Amino acid sequence: MSKPIVAILGRPNVGKSTLFNRIVGGRVAIVEDTPGVTRDRLYMDAEWSGRHFTLVDTGGLDFQEDSEITGHVRTQVELAIREADVVLFVVDARAGLNPDDLEVASVVRRAHKPAVLVVNKVENFDSPEKIYDFFQLGLGDPVPVSAAEGLNTGDMLDRLVELLPPDQGVADSPDIIKIAVIGRPNVGKSSLVNSLLGEERVIVSNIPGTTRDAIDTTFERDGKNYMLIDTAGIRRRSRVERTTEKYSVIRSLRAIDRCDVVLVVIDAVEGVTEQDKRIAGYAHEAGKGSILVVNKWDLVEKDDKTMKRYSDKVRQELAFMPYAPLIFTSALTGKRVLKVLELVDFVAEKHATRVSTANLNTLIREATQQNPPPADKTRRLKILYATQSGVKPPRFVLFVNDPELLHFSYQRYLENQIRSAYGFEGTPLRFSLRRRS
Ligand code: GDP
Ligand code: GDP
Repeated sequence: MSKPIVAILGRPNVGKSTLFNRIVGGRVAIVEDTPGVTRDRLYMDAEWSGRHFTLVDTGGLDFQEDSEITGHVRTQVELAIREADVVLFVVDARAGLNPDDLEVASVVRRAHKPAVLVVNKVENFDSPEKIYDFFQLGLGDPVPVSAAEGLNTGDMLDRLVELLPPDQGVADSPDIIKIAVIGRPNVGKSSLVNSLLGEERVIVSNIPGTTRDAIDTTFERDGKNYMLIDTAGIRRRSRVERTTEKYSVIRSLRAIDRCDVVLVVIDAVEGVTEQDKRIAGYAHEAGKGSILVVNKWDLVEKDDKTMKRYSDKVRQELAFMPYAPLIFTSALTGKRVLKVLELVDFVAEKHATRVSTANLNTLIREATQQNPPPADKTRRLKILYATQSGVKPPRFVLFVNDPELLHFSYQRYLENQIRSAYGFEGTPLRFSLRRRS
């Protein structure tokens, strides 16, 4: 299911990141517990009144590097708006209406995108009449908030949720493996896809249109069915698309949301970049299967240790997903391109694996006997019972005497035990705790 995308727009310093953090709230803390996941987050899944959406902080995407809204920057804003379902347009009550606000607002209006006009920094604000100036932006009633103090943000979210497009349940066909090919421009995504689709015995059956301008390509090999998500996004070739790498990110988020397995394509010459880390981090948090594809391997001068050294480096950069298989390809020569497909099969299977409750409980019992949970002063964690509650990714519920007593390191230990018993290559695992006395 594809989650709607909400983009936070506005001039620098109006409070976009503060608002972002306010909306995603407690979730940030949880994620930051995961070692290696980048703290500098630009997008995050959020929920309000039962509706889920992905919030993107365009401030982090620094579309206003120039302080003036130049033609180029305007294109960037337009792209951000085009990719979003709803815009949260943030202005600063204290700074008052600014010519740049008018400029951005006119782009939002012309794009006919639903928008909420958020007037920030209104706590202890002594000139409320200034808020009415923002009516001139032509984006409806201003919603006054204080992002810093959390004032009125609930009302703002109510407004936002009303503007989200209706839930579009993507028909989940269990027999088709959905693949998203993700990576920065020029890493060779399109070449990889073409190389794959051009393989003998790969039958490209049809190209159905799905949502918006997203085009998915389905194909078949050895009786198995696959879907490449958003091949339009992969293959699009316009100049403007090249200059706006950062906005291809938003498109990638959508593709990740809809897929089972993400191919994180890394340029062998450039190595892992910050953006690669962010995208991979998103796939991890979204609970998708992941495969790290180091492409253009033909360009790297090699001796017998190169591959090992290179793997170690990639592993270090992407330390939050040690489970992801890593493969070195050349889309140019076709080397190991079909092997990628084998890995996709393998990871998709692990991503959907269900283990029996009896088996799982035996494993947990043995694991806790071998290495008992550390005691916290007087009390010790007791795991009474465990069960798998779901797949894609595999989710486990642990019934414990007191959830507070489970430390991250012990959870990591249990996860490793489960992984070494059942594999689960390529997929993150989820754990939740329930109190049972
Ligand atoms: P961004 O550049 O739009 O992402 O803005 P930031 O979120 O970084 O905030 C810019 C500045 O405004 C920071 O100093 C924030 O502390 C401050 N700020 C953000 N929200 C509020 C608010 O609700 N009230 C006040 N008084 N200051 C705020
Ligand atoms: P995309 O923007 O990620 O879709 O990248 P493209 O598939 O358009 O590739 C960008 C450039 O890299 C093109 O000139 C390709 O010919 C080249 N390229 C792609 N894969 C490889 C590879 O494995 N080896 C080499 N040497 N070049 C490659």
